[in-house]
Amino acid sequence: MHQITVNGLVVDVVRKKIKNLHLAVYPPNGRIRVAAPLHIDDEAVRLAVISRLAWIKRQQATFESQERQSEREFVSGESHYYLGNRYLLNVIYHDAPPKVILRSNTHIDLFVRKGSSIARRERVLLNWYRRGLKEAIPPLIAKWEAIIGVEVSEWRIKQMKTKWGTCNIEQRRIWLNLELAKKSERCLEYIIVHELIHLLERLHNDHFIALMDRFMPQWRLLRAELNQAPLAHENWEY
Ligand SMILES: [Zn+2]
Repeated sequence: MHQITVNGLVVDVVRKKIKNLHLAVYPPNGRIRVAAPLHIDDEAVRLAVISRLAWIKRQQATFESQERQSEREFVSGESHYYLGNRYLLNVIYHDAPPKVILRSNTHIDLFVRKGSSIARRERVLLNWYRRGLKEAIPPLIAKWEAIIGVEVSEWRIKQMKTKWGTCNIEQRRIWLNLELAKKSERCLEYIIVHELIHLLERLHNDHFIALMDRFMPQWRLLRAELNQAPLAHENWEY
């Protein structure tokens, strides 16, 4: 499988021994997948996607509104995202300190005391997200500090409503949104690279874009992935 972008949409392309091209949009986050016959090239796939763009957008809008309608209650059976994958939440009551365990790539087991509130269950899960990010971030920062040739004095994980990340250039300090724990690691990496490049260029100008192109040529693909549902309903900045 490989990915192409068409009008800012990420499309998974799979080549198979089949006669006709199949295009599908999948819940919950509107992933687009094309199964193409072996002899069909990416340009033909691109044209097929463009010809059905209106339909794709309608499908994605439907999935997104379904996703938005369900307010999170942190109860068993809800879907939650971690590092780009969707899991079913399974709440288990026990008489011990809370913990979270990822089970067989399908479930998040959330252990809490009986009678714990929604807010409490949310906090336990968010703390677990935070720990996951705290492990994932340092090696990525170290890797990209070396590649880009900059140094960060401090980084923090913050709950932010409209920003994936921020960079305080004078303090050389970057903040990363806790919500990034729900996205794939390559999305987290893209935001880290973006914020580190701000240490070379404050503005989102041509120079900034040239630096992104140089250090991370596939950044547009990652931006499109980052802005896909289920967290696509805000105007994210970074
Ligand atoms: Zn920026």
